[in-house]
Amino acid sequence: MRNKILAANWKMNLTQQQVTSWLGEFNDLNWKSPHTELRIYPSSIYLKDIQAAGLHGGAQNVYFEANGAYTGELSIQQLQSIGVQSVLIGHSERRQLFFEDDALLAQKVNACAAANFQFVLCCGEAIETRTAGAHLDFVLAQLSENLRLLTETDLHMLVVAYEPIWAIGSGLSADLDQITEMHQAIRNHLVGLYGVGGEQVPILYGGSVNAANAKTIFSCPNVDGALVGGASLDPLIFNELWQALQA
Ligand code: PEP
Repeated sequence: MRNKILAANWKMNLTQQQVTSWLGEFNDLNWKSPHTELRIYPSSIYLKDIQAAGLHGGAQNVYFEANGAYTGELSIQQLQSIGVQSVLIGHSERRQLFFEDDALLAQKVNACAAANFQFVLCCGEAIETRTAGAHLDFVLAQLSENLRLLTETDLHMLVVAYEPIWAIGSGLSADLDQITEMHQAIRNHLVGLYGVGGEQVPILYGGSVNAANAKTIFSCPNVDGALVGGASLDPLIFNELWQALQA
C-alpha cells in the first residue's frame, strides 16, 4: 500500500512569530494518523521549530555538492545533520525564477539517492504546453530527464508531485479529468521505467488545492495526497485538508 502524504509548501512566507503561532494552533488540532504522512516545507530558518513541534520538516531546496564555496546554498549533509527528513526538488518556481534545468535536477536527485535522503520531485506543464496538447509528453520527458540517474534500489526515496504551473497559486485547480489523465500517465511511466517498484511511488497533486476541492481531488485514482501552497498558511484550513485526506 502506498503512503498518503499531505505536504505544506510555505514558500518564502511567514515570520518567526507567525510560525510559532501556526504550530501552536495546528498542534491543538487532531492531526495524528498512522496511515497518513504530514510534511511541512518551511523556509529553512524555521526547520528546527517544525521539528520541535514533532512534525516532519523538509527543505524547499538543496544543492548537490556536499560542501564548499557555494554561497547561499545548503547541502544534503547539512540538512541531515540537523535531522531534516526530506527536500523538494524542481518546484516550478525554482525552474522558472532560478533557472534550474533538468541536468541540474538530475544531479540533485542523484545526490539525494546517494545520501539516502527522501525527496519530492515536482513536475508540471505551462498553460501553453497544455493548450498545444503536449502536456503528457512534456511532463513524462521531465520525469525521464530528472530521474535518469535514479535506480530502482533508490526508488523508495522518491515522491512525485504533479503541479501544473497554471494551477499554482491561481485559484484554478486542474479538473478531475485532467488530474486523472496525468496521474495515470505518470504511474504508467514510473512502471515503465522501474517495473513493479513504480507502483509504490506516491504521486501528489499540487495547484490551488483548498478546503472546497480537496476531497474530490483525493478521490481520483493515483492521487496519493497533495502538495499545498496558499491553503497551508492557515492551520485551520490545512487541518481541513488533512481531515479530507483521512476520509
Ligand atoms: C505550490 O506552489 O506547490 C502550490 C501547490 O501552491 P498553491 O497550493 O498555492 O497553488
